[in-house]
Amino acid sequence: MRHAATSAGILNIELSDDESMRKPNLATLARRPSEISKALLAAQRVCTDGARRLTPIRRDVYALLLKERRPMSAYELLSALEKTLRRKLAPLTVYRALDFLIEAGLAHRLERSHAFVACQHPSDEHESLYLVCSACGLAEEVESAKVADVLTAVSRKHGFRPEQQIVEVRGVCADCTRVATK
Ligand SMILES: [Zn+2]
Ligand SMILES: [Zn+2]
Repeated sequence: MRHAATSAGILNIELSDDESMRKPNLATLARRPSEISKALLAAQRVCTDGARRLTPIRRDVYALLLKERRPMSAYELLSALEKTLRRKLAPLTVYRALDFLIEAGLAHRLERSHAFVACQHPSDEHESLYLVCSACGLAEEVESAKVADVLTAVSRKHGFRPEQQIVEVRGVCADCTRVATK
């Protein structure tokens, strides 16, 4: 009995150690409800200004992307939505909502990750530079006029007209680096 308790104890310690590896990131990953409702209001404004309709399903998909703060695949979005709405959805519904969000500038598609992320500053025109953490999955959208300038200059030099510039940089985020070096 005692033996079993001890090994369970060891197991617990090991598990919680493993948990603490990921904990700081998970805490920072999810956006707070207040942040989400603020972003939803802003999205509503962006849509109204562009004469677009933020239907409930489009809004739900956007809210999920906001909440997760990491790239999500269409499939992940579909199953998360089905869970929240408690009904089956056609995958096409989610794809259409995503197309709308991208078109409206509310979300970006990360080609390399085959996933989607909520845009962090939808009201202004911008090129996207994403820092994607391979350890916790966090995708931080950062603005860099310099990177955008370089991409434009290089494209021009080659007579190339870029249609969209989304740069994904893979690596380890600050939190994960901190945890790893502790
Ligand atoms: Zn953006
Ligand atoms: Zn990370």
